[in-house]
Amino acid sequence: MEKIKMTTPLVEMDGDEMTRILWGMIKDKLILPFVDLKTEYYDLGLLSRNATRDQITVDAANATRRLGVAVKCATITPNRQRMEEYPELTEMWRSPNGTIRAILDGTAFRAPIVLPCIKPVVRNWEAPITIARHAYGDMYKAVDMTTEEPGTATLTFRGESGAEKALTVQTVRGPAVWQGQHNTEDSIRAFARSCFQYALSQKQDLWFSTKDTIAKVYDGEFKRIFEEEYEASYKELFQKAGITYFYTLIDDAVARVIRSRGGFIWALKNYDGDVMSDMIAAAFGSLAMMTSVLVSPDGTMEFEASHGTVTRHYYRYLKGERTSTNPMATIFAWSGALKRRGELDGLEDLARFGEELEAASLKTLEDGVMTKDLLPLVEPGFPAQGVDSEEFLDAVAARLAAGA
Ligand code: NAP
Ligand code: MG
Repeated sequence: MEKIKMTTPLVEMDGDEMTRILWGMIKDKLILPFVDLKTEYYDLGLLSRNATRDQITVDAANATRRLGVAVKCATITPNRQRMEEYPELTEMWRSPNGTIRAILDGTAFRAPIVLPCIKPVVRNWEAPITIARHAYGDMYKAVDMTTEEPGTATLTFRGESGAEKALTVQTVRGPAVWQGQHNTEDSIRAFARSCFQYALSQKQDLWFSTKDTIAKVYDGEFKRIFEEEYEASYKELFQKAGITYFYTLIDDAVARVIRSRGGFIWALKNYDGDVMSDMIAAAFGSLAMMTSVLVSPDGTMEFEASHGTVTRHYYRYLKGERTSTNPMATIFAWSGALKRRGELDGLEDLARFGEELEAASLKTLEDGVMTKDLLPLVEPGFPAQGVDSEEFLDAVAARLAAGA
């Protein structure tokens, strides 16, 4: 069988621990036999980041800007405990995802992989709900203080021109607590563009919600900037794609989401996204089935699993045990990246292969062959058999080769 050709490479970011092991297996069993794979390889494993003083992460992010598509393996973000585990570390290196997000100015979209044998807690959700969380500012870059005596707080902005703008926040008669928040127009605009771009790439409706009836100026700015971007650059593209942009108040959105059938992207401010993404993930079932895509305002995309490096399984693997670690989210990171590469380069075969890889993986689960983490989640009476990672990948490979 002739392998599928690629024209432009995609950026491949290798990672750590159990996911690094799965990475190699996925490539060997599911990608390389079918695709004449072209990647620019960056080893973001912890020791490689350490050896390059983390330059490799910056290089990988810059390569992603240049090539437009990346796939990333989960990586260790070192903490105190990791510094003891890896005595050769010269610094507590920053989170690679944080570094990459800053360079790509991107928004992360988290989407569950759904299938009929694992029903979400909300029974009417039939298709995935993807959360886009604005990852800059508001409460996460706020300053806070408490005060003890009666008095008045003011909010003052001093421009570089020397001009000032001031407001009274409140006059209080006793001890009080205060918070100063901000966001920037650039960041909100980049967030809006990433959301519109991703909705177009997925051909899914985009919902956006804030509390602009109460925060008339603050949330009002978010609403205004989204509308402005939509009208100026995306309205026609949305019409052509047959999708809609829908703004509603956050409380209305929450009620509608619960009653919906799913199948849309829900953009949220930083705090709302933080809270709602955990709710949606829990309701859909499993961290091992959550994918994540970082999308920059120009449509550059980096695909990965939402989960970490699955350390506990890795230490069992090192002892020679075969582990039942779920590779689904990492497989979908690869399929997402190949589909996007195919779409950007006009390679229908490559895009179709991405679809087939996803279909074969879902078919394997629907046939009852799954890693053990999923066994407690399947519908009662569904005939499921728990296998280890390698057996699962072999079962997917067999279905992929058979064109199922
Ligand atoms: P984790 O790797 O996501 O694993 C937490 C637990 O969730 C696992 O021990 C396992 O439970 C279960 N789990 C997660 N993914 C699974 C899978 N694919 N298949 C089966 N079970 C799965 O989170 P963590 O232990 O908090 O973090 C480990 C390392 O990952 C840390 O060094 C952290 O910095 C890093 N991390 C990286 C990323 C990223 O690169 N995007 C994200 C998060 C964390 P059981 O042990 O009960 O089976
Ligand atoms: Mg959270």
